[in-house]
Amino acid sequence: MKHKIFQTLPFFLIFITQFTTQAQNKEKGFGNPLPQSSSISSVFGEPRSNHFHSGIDFRTNSDTGLIVVAPYDGWISRIKVGFTGYGNALYLEHSNGLSTVYGHLERFAPAIEKYIVNVQYANQKNDIEDFPERELLCIQKGDTIGFTGNTGGSTGPHLHYEIRETKSQNPIDPIARGLYYLPDNTAPVIARLIIYEVTEVDGCLLFRRFKGLKVQKGKNLYTIVNNGLEALPKKIAFGLIADDRINEQKGTFAIASAVMKLDGEDYFGYNLDKFSYTETRFANAFIDYEAKKMKYGEIVKLFAESNCPISTYRLNSNSGVVNVDTTKGQLFEIKVMDHNGNSSLLQFALRPKNTIKPNQLAIKDTIRQVIATPTKHKTLNYNGIQLTIPEKALYAPALVEIKDTTLVGDLAISKSVAIGSNTIPLQKSVKIEINLKQMGVNITDRVYLARLQGSKGISYAGGIITDSLLSSSTREFGVFALARDTTPPLIKPRNFQDGENVSAQRYLFYHISDAETGVASYQAYIDGEWAAMYYEPKEQTLRYNLSSLRLQPGLSHNIRIVCTDQIGNTSELTNNFIW
Ligand SMILES: [Zn+2]
Repeated sequence: MKHKIFQTLPFFLIFITQFTTQAQNKEKGFGNPLPQSSSISSVFGEPRSNHFHSGIDFRTNSDTGLIVVAPYDGWISRIKVGFTGYGNALYLEHSNGLSTVYGHLERFAPAIEKYIVNVQYANQKNDIEDFPERELLCIQKGDTIGFTGNTGGSTGPHLHYEIRETKSQNPIDPIARGLYYLPDNTAPVIARLIIYEVTEVDGCLLFRRFKGLKVQKGKNLYTIVNNGLEALPKKIAFGLIADDRINEQKGTFAIASAVMKLDGEDYFGYNLDKFSYTETRFANAFIDYEAKKMKYGEIVKLFAESNCPISTYRLNSNSGVVNVDTTKGQLFEIKVMDHNGNSSLLQFALRPKNTIKPNQLAIKDTIRQVIATPTKHKTLNYNGIQLTIPEKALYAPALVEIKDTTLVGDLAISKSVAIGSNTIPLQKSVKIEINLKQMGVNITDRVYLARLQGSKGISYAGGIITDSLLSSSTREFGVFALARDTTPPLIKPRNFQDGENVSAQRYLFYHISDAETGVASYQAYIDGEWAAMYYEPKEQTLRYNLSSLRLQPGLSHNIRIVCTDQIGNTSELTNNFIW
């Protein structure tokens, strides 16, 4: 009897140990920051325009004001209030070497809100970035820290939740790292394989789409539908259109990693479970930017562009370039994985009979076209316009041109000129210099460079004028014209009339907008004293919190709003109210 117990005990102990370790991990782990929603719309690493998505986006049912709680003990280490980027954002530092970020909040928990208002008034600044002392705003797991919103660069109500390594401030994949749990056993879906033709321009690799191939799913594998690949370029590379599905989650998501093998050997791959903010813009070269702009779909490249040095790549010495062999078949395997480790495999063999000569990049018009590469500084002069492309502004060699267009921008005072193409992405700014007189513009006062958006609309693209030469820099090619903004911003009360008793209200709302260049700054003064205001450009609203206990109640107060646009036109409005 004794003997038997002894024998069974170790097994029993192992079981208990495993069980408690799992339970403890769960206890130690990060909780859900948004108890009311586990529905997500974006995952980590999603390539977006000019950045990789650095967190998880939670849906909030098109609503705002959902409670956000701390998923782990910590302290508020950074606060941002503003109308761009993450809008109203909180940063929590935790003792385990990780930090969490909450973006686009509507408002903060009362104690944090009080702290923020004090910082705003002490500095007389609406937009703040503050780093509170470690002991000041301590938070325990489950404490309410704020409420979801739609502030900053958000285009709809949601919560942006991000986990960073505190020391490096590098964001990491919460799902892949086991810090957020999402049930998922659904594998990614591979839709298309794209073959790229590879050539060289001045020592830089140039990848161009050669052929797109349909992919079919068999029992365990994806294969390509044979499209008669009898002839291929000598050097090729691959791209993939694939996305992920997650159990019970609406929509499709970005895949997390891919590995390509050639004849059984690892050849190229990437793993997007962590990146650095200094490399986030390389998302423009990680995908086929031109294909996306032209709505061919989002192609993830299985090769590295000359100027795309991201840490997520697993490179062989060929940057993903394959030398095509006509003497024997080459076997390719591409495995894609989602954030939970579910994978799909595409397998195909290539054995073309012939190789074909690649098309060289060539200019047809030497006056207004230039071939630029990431390794050389280049300038192009045409009709009073000078374009300067510095080194490492481009990701890959490209034909860049300046050409007149027949597009007419509303409010423009000159013809429109295409400078480069919006299908060519930029890592660094290029410089645009325009001789106003050569564009038929003889005034310089409040003239600016306008970018044509959509069919007719324009947006402010900056510009400093010296001796009738306008100089501006931009990180986006496009169609430009000159415009002039002489209209000051519009300010009007939204929820009260001059002299009204507003004691029953919590806020004063103003409409502020600027027709051309946009609102650049706004200030408010109540009874002559600076007052904190909250600006929401999407709603063209300026808000004052009456309940901030900074006014003596029952009196008539005077409020003055001053608003300036980007070119320097200023408006002022003074009203009275009783509160
Ligand atoms: Zn987000």
